[in-house]
Parts: sequence; structure tokens; C-alpha cells
Amino acid sequence: MNTQEALTLFREKQLRINSYRLALTTMNWDSSTIAPKKGADYRNHMMAILSGELFSLYIDPEYIKLIEQLAAADDLSETESIEMKQMLKELNKERNIPKDVFVKFAQLQRDGETIWEKAKETSDYPLFKPYLQKLIDGTKRNISYRNDTRSTYASLIDDFETDMTIEKYDEFFALVKEKLVPLIHAIKEANIPAPAFLSASVPIQQQRAVVELIREYLQYPKDAGLISESVHPFSSSFSAFDNRVTVRYHENNFTSSIFALIHEVGHATYNGQVNPEYQGRHIANSMTYGMHESQSRLYENMLGRSKAFWSSLYPKVVELVDALKDVSLDEFIFGINYVTAQFYRIEADELTYPLHVLVRYEIEKDLFEGNLTTEGLDEVWADKYESYLDIRPQSTSEGILQDVHWSGGAFGYFPTYALGSAYSAQFMNKMSQDLDIDKLMENNQFDQINGWLKDNIHTFGGLYTPEQLLLRITGETFNPSYYIDYLLNKYSELYKIKL
Ligand code: ZN
Repeated sequence: MNTQEALTLFREKQLRINSYRLALTTMNWDSSTIAPKKGADYRNHMMAILSGELFSLYIDPEYIKLIEQLAAADDLSETESIEMKQMLKELNKERNIPKDVFVKFAQLQRDGETIWEKAKETSDYPLFKPYLQKLIDGTKRNISYRNDTRSTYASLIDDFETDMTIEKYDEFFALVKEKLVPLIHAIKEANIPAPAFLSASVPIQQQRAVVELIREYLQYPKDAGLISESVHPFSSSFSAFDNRVTVRYHENNFTSSIFALIHEVGHATYNGQVNPEYQGRHIANSMTYGMHESQSRLYENMLGRSKAFWSSLYPKVVELVDALKDVSLDEFIFGINYVTAQFYRIEADELTYPLHVLVRYEIEKDLFEGNLTTEGLDEVWADKYESYLDIRPQSTSEGILQDVHWSGGAFGYFPTYALGSAYSAQFMNKMSQDLDIDKLMENNQFDQINGWLKDNIHTFGGLYTPEQLLLRITGETFNPSYYIDYLLNKYSELYKIKL
């Protein structure tokens, strides 16, 4: 079979796979948003059957052979060649795992999540501990089937973020620790109380109106994007012109829905601005975790928490929200950037956030490199929070059991959250050389910002690795100092602290 014939056949099979995927994405969306709870059992059963069908399409030997042939072909276009090599790399990660080992691990992941939920509810780390150990052992075993000479944790890091290494993360987190911890301690010492409006009661109706206002401001398209509600905000990409987000409304924490919206629309805009010719192809969605997070955090923090973002919006928000009647724009800006060390990563402010990630990174790395065991890990966790954030969790549900990731065997995922913020600072630095960002926001011209992101980042989908993209756009590879400097400047000015 020549290359063109192989490609045609491959695309046919890929479309078939996509149709199952779209069905599952839709069912998933439905069950996280509007589907009645009582129907969950039957729905889950049907989804499991569909997933099984999808899996057999993935492991179809003919499909695999086509990927191998195409990844080795030298007469494909550049984008097709990159796409096929990416797919072969993905395939090689799991193809040598014996089926019984694979199935057993999938079962362990499900059990891990179920036990974790229980353990979290009752703050019972000893209940979760044996599962955590089995998940670590199972992950090590899965990776041992690859012909990879790197350490297990090094492979895991690369799975979640192409090109990232332990050395690069070590350097990054060393800077985070050295530069940010003293500022966080100084802000705590200053003891400035949280502005009262942050916890004021704001009726959901008023919050929905604000969300609609921001949607228009961000120019998140109505005919290609949807906003819905779910317990945990998320975004989901169905196709080039169908990208959806969810928010959650808390009556006594109304800024939560605002920033969840901006964050998730950042993700959705990324997917929505990928070159439409890539629709249905692997590269339409193969951006790394860190890259995706860079776009949501650029939206949420670098743009969404700036004064320029709110300068034209804020008067309209005040009209909608009674609780803001006597709050000036400057007070509002201070409030949405208020720094407070607390236990939960997902509620953390922009400055303390990377420290939450640092704790998880250090623990994961030590677990996989044999410097720590699961025994007493809850205390290790608490010690680290005490030393970096000056707080000590009193229960494991507000400590080591707070995140779902490890219970599903996702090790190496956490560091991408902090990395995304750091990428975004480097992109932002370049964007501000090309555009007068503040002026564009003040003049309600968010389309120009979206246009820059589209031309420089979004349109390429997952075609380039983060390092290739950073180099292409900013002229240098990953440089964490943009992020550290951005945080130090912003928060020492906001809190009038000189270190
Ligand atoms: Zn995100």
C-alpha cells in the first residue's frame, strides 16, 4: 500500500473513532451538567460499553499498522508527518503492557477513586494508603514495559508535558521556593483583612447577568460556545465550532463564578481558534497540559485580574451587583487579588498557587525516587504546608486527601498546573511588546487579543511542542524568570512591600 492509500484508509478509521469519541464526550457533558442523577447507573453502563467499542478500534492491528507505516513515511506533508509521529509515540507507551495487567490497573484506578472519596469524607488517610501504594507500584510496572532508559518519574513528567525533565522542574521550583516564600510570609505578617465584599451574599440571578456580560466582553461566540453549570467548572471541546464551559455559582463567593468562567473560556478559546483544517485530526487536540493551562491562566490571571480588564466593565458590574454599590474599582481590584494562605489548591490565589503545586511535586518525586514511602506521608504533607505557607492542616481531608489526581494514578500531572502559569507570563511578555494590551481592554477590543493568541499560539493546535512554540514566539526556550518577576512586581506593589 502506498502512502496516500494508507493515509486515506487511516483517515477513514480515524473518523470512525472520532464518532465514538464525540458520542462519549456528549454523554459525559450531559451527565456532568443536566442529566438526572437517578439515571446514572444505566447511563454509566452504556458508556462503559461504548468505551469498550472505542478501545477495540484503538487496538485494531490494521489501524496500528497504518500508524506505523505513516509515521515512517517520508512523503507526507510536514503536519501529517508530525501528527503520525505523535500518534506512534502515544501508542508505544501502552502497547507492550499485557492485557491482564492493563485491565487490572484500570480496575485499581476505579477502586482507588472510590476509596479516596470515602477516605476524604472521613479524613482517613490509612484507608487510602494501601491503594496509593498499589497505584504507585502499578504505575512503575506499566512504565517498565516501555523501552525507556529514564527513571519512572522522568517518563511520567514527559507523558504530561512533552520535553519537560526533572532537571527543568527542579530549577523552576527552586526559584518558586526561594523567591516567593519570603513574599508570602511578609504578606501574612502585614495582616491585612480580606475585603468584606468577597464574602457578601450575591443572588445567583445577579451572578448570571455578570457572567453574560463577561462572555460578551471576551467575545466568546454564542454560535460556537456554550456556558452551562456543573459541580466543578470544566471545559470540553466537541469540535472546532463547538466548545463548551461550565461554571458554578456560590451565593457567598460570587467572584468564584467570574474567574471560573474566564479560566474555562481561556481553554475553550484555545480549542475554538485551532486551524479548522485540523478538525478531526490528532493535532487539533494534542496540546500539552501545560500549554492548555497557560491559555486559561493567561485569561484568568494576567488579563482577568488586571485593572485594565475591569476599567470599562466594572461600572456595568456595579449596576448589576448590589453588594458592590460602595466598592471602588481599586478596592475591587485589590479584593480579586487578595492573598491568603489556605489549605485548598483549587481555591488558592495566584501568588500562593505554585507553592501548593510545589508540595505535590516534591512528594511525588520523592515517592517515585524512593526517598519517601506512603507511611506517614500525611505528616510530610502537613510539614511542607507549615514551612511554605505558615499553615498546618488539621485533617487529611484538607491535607493530602484533597485532590483526586493520585487516586486515579495521575502522577506527574500536578507540576503542569504551575508550569502553565509560567508559560503564560513568558507569552504575555511578548504579547505586550506587540500590542497595547491595556488600551485594547479599556476600549473593549478583546478580539485583538484573541487574534494575537490565535495567530501565535492557538492556530497550531498541538503541532509544536511547548519548547518549540516558546522559541518560535518569544525567541527563547522556557524561562521561569518572567513568571517569578511578574509575581514579585505585582504583589509587592499591591501590598506595598519591599523585600
Ligand atoms: Zn484549567
